[in-house]
Amino acid sequence: TDQPDRSINETETVCPLCAVGCRLTHGDGDRAEGCEGPANPNGRLCAKGATAFEAVRDDDRLTTPLVRRDDGLVPTDWSTALDRVVNDFETVCDASGSDALAFFGAPRCTNEENYLLQKLARSLGTNNVDNRARLCHASAATALESRFGWPASTNCLTDLTDADLLLVVGANPAIQQPVAFDAFVRPAVADGTTLVDIDPRQNETTRIADQHITPRPGTDALCFHLVCALLVEHEYVDTSFVNNRTSDYETFKAALANIDIDEGQQTTGVDSETLIALVDRIGTADRITVIGGTGIEDGGDETTTTDALLNMLLLTGNVGRPGTGFMLLRGLNNEQGAVDMGCRPDILPGHQSVTDDAARRRVADVWNTEPPSHPGRNEYEALDAFGTTVHGALVVGENPAIEKRDADWVAHQLDALETLVLLDVFPSETMQHADVVLPAAVGLEKAGTITNLDRRVQRLSVTASPPGMARTDYAILAALGEQLVGDGFAPVDPETAFDELQAVNPLYDGFSDTVGECWPVGNDDGLYTDGFATHDSKAPFVPLDPAVTSPADDELVLIVGSRAGGFDTEYTVDNRVRLNVNDATMREIEEGDHVVVATGDITVTTTAAVGDAVREGTAYLHADVADPLVRSASGSPTVTVTLAKDV
Ligand code: SF4
Repeated sequence: TDQPDRSINETETVCPLCAVGCRLTHGDGDRAEGCEGPANPNGRLCAKGATAFEAVRDDDRLTTPLVRRDDGLVPTDWSTALDRVVNDFETVCDASGSDALAFFGAPRCTNEENYLLQKLARSLGTNNVDNRARLCHASAATALESRFGWPASTNCLTDLTDADLLLVVGANPAIQQPVAFDAFVRPAVADGTTLVDIDPRQNETTRIADQHITPRPGTDALCFHLVCALLVEHEYVDTSFVNNRTSDYETFKAALANIDIDEGQQTTGVDSETLIALVDRIGTADRITVIGGTGIEDGGDETTTTDALLNMLLLTGNVGRPGTGFMLLRGLNNEQGAVDMGCRPDILPGHQSVTDDAARRRVADVWNTEPPSHPGRNEYEALDAFGTTVHGALVVGENPAIEKRDADWVAHQLDALETLVLLDVFPSETMQHADVVLPAAVGLEKAGTITNLDRRVQRLSVTASPPGMARTDYAILAALGEQLVGDGFAPVDPETAFDELQAVNPLYDGFSDTVGECWPVGNDDGLYTDGFATHDSKAPFVPLDPAVTSPADDELVLIVGSRAGGFDTEYTVDNRVRLNVNDATMREIEEGDHVVVATGDITVTTTAAVGDAVREGTAYLHADVADPLVRSASGSPTVTVTLAKDV
């Protein structure tokens, strides 16, 4: 009788399964049905989106708070579970100070939930708050932020049709963002826009490309550095834009003069004819947009590949006009919003630095408490510090036990904490290490807003109640905040929280409607039309010296495919490893052979698909199959593997 009504209503909301942000509603047989929206103007959904309601009905959902006792995690009531968290966190703070706590936010949660999470961390006195987007697009976002001002796409999806040259780099939007691809890219190409696909593998996007360029993996930055040198040499520079909108051009130009073009071509594996054809396309195009995916991530603090692409856009004056700029293909539904809300150790909501006294005071006026002024630890740094200087963690909707790092080491770090609190919707590997598990809600059960990959802020509607005793992350964080910080910590509901976050986040000012606009409101032509959001309104050129690491002779660079599923009615995974015919011949591997793909001690056994769909020196696996190999690589974007027949 305590079970809430589990019926699903037919309210229109936003698909929670990727950052494109298609609008949908509940349809026959629990399938989702598309509704017309800014990201899906034809009302279509992809195969993955059509299954969005499965999570609402899933019998494996967490439905009861759990606390760890001597005999493991046991079900309990909310009051007991929340008291345990409050007691554990107060004990950690009393013994070791606020910076002994760490908070991991969630791109799958709403803006209001991420806002509340960072408010909780900062009200308790720490900037140790981050989110999982760091594992996916940190490199590109960092470059965009430091060069242009905001870590975000410069234009909206609807703007793509205005480009006359689209450069897709390290992405396969035809399968990863199929709705947006069909709504904006495909019609643009049919209408005469040129599409160049830069990827070591022939993929679904390549099928409509005018040119496919396959630099050796790890040489994209060098490739675009060469392009910049040739643009200068062939006098394709937009002098007016460079003079008025950029800085540091002379230093950059001097660095370009040192490039050995022939040597660079050999290193990238892109021949002279192909490179010149690309340079001519770029030099003669009027409106260029780069569409960048995870393939341009350099890993760690490196931003070289994105920097090279941004240099190219600046050189040719392709930022700040319709049809120009950089579209960052974020993956998770609210990756952009989690960062906009300040779930980062160095920024407050609205990308205001924690070291900015005036910004902290503005926040304090609303919160009645001032955030700390020293930047906190990011997720990597916090994980490293578990058990030494960080002793308690609150993890929202994330499964760090299996995230791209050595699983044994992460397990050891998680166990070194005095208390680990998880908010999640399904059981996960991290639960084995948790002290308290709080059952949360999925996106279709929430009110609030999310911000999609083109900075579009859309309001959600509640289509169902969470199962059993599960609550929204908003309700859980509000309850924790009321106990840990004090009465009045949390606005009464997500709508009121949006009003509050607008007061501390100037970028979100002015939103009112359900199907939102892209931030900042009223900027329909994209960002940076009049100037960059930098100290002098100019975007700096960055001289580069792209490092190239080559795999050992017997190794291949692993290319990992997408988890999205196109428009097929059934989402299928191709388990085979794809390799080039020359690499296969060298290893005496034939089509259909059972093969072992290995990196270090980690192996995956699968079947070989031999052909010319991938370039020499690479091996391609779907993400689901490549997972153990990628996780063993400790966050490195380049995974090298050996490949041998399974005998
Ligand atoms: Fe959902 Fe993304 Fe598919 Fe659109 S493209 S239906 S947002 S998963």
